[in-house]
Amino acid sequence: MGHLLSKSKYIRGLQCERALWLDVYNPREARYSADAFRRFDAGRTFEQTYKNTYPNAIDISERLKYNRDDYPQLTEELLDGEGVVDLFEAGFAYDDVLVLADVVHKREDGILDIYEVKGGREVTVTFIEDAAVQYYVISQVREVGRFSLVCRGEGDSFSLTDVTEIVMERKALVAERMAAMKKVLAGGEPGTEPGDQCTRPYECPYGKHCAKGIRQLMMDL
Ligand code: SF4
Repeated sequence: MGHLLSKSKYIRGLQCERALWLDVYNPREARYSADAFRRFDAGRTFEQTYKNTYPNAIDISERLKYNRDDYPQLTEELLDGEGVVDLFEAGFAYDDVLVLADVVHKREDGILDIYEVKGGREVTVTFIEDAAVQYYVISQVREVGRFSLVCRGEGDSFSLTDVTEIVMERKALVAERMAAMKKVLAGGEPGTEPGDQCTRPYECPYGKHCAKGIRQLMMDL
């Protein structure tokens, strides 16, 4: 049985509750632009460059591929091992929400430091929201020390920003929003009309789907 929410669905839900509903129940309606694919590719390349700085890390996604529901179990087993452990795509689940962390570093004292890699040059509100939902889930199951965002620095360097205090303060807000999103998902497709939210912070992939609804409405008038 899959988890109801994930980090990306949470971010989608912050943009628009209809987009969240479609992501869960009708994702085949999504249409991504060539620009969006280019952004994903650039983000993945940058992420891999940062991951290369952890030569001994274990990549959970290489072992389990698309069996995402199994990630938390293997993550737990590996983190229960002795000493320092570095993991890529470690999975954590709590309250029907699954998050995968880009880089998890388990220190000698057993506490986890988390690194979320983002392709941008500056920390944005969306990056903070992304970190906050991860912190919300991971801190329910393990002790988290520092949470850092990794962005592009000067030249080929990385720019790390410690956002631990900020994400700690957002825990209650994340819990509230999660509850609201679950309510949305318990109902039918919301009738949200297209507006400013369709392009902020990202271009929504359901533009054609929602425009179809409007066209149908006009024809029925
Ligand atoms: S196109 Fe706009 S209204 Fe439709 S799901 Fe996306 S953000 Fe929501």
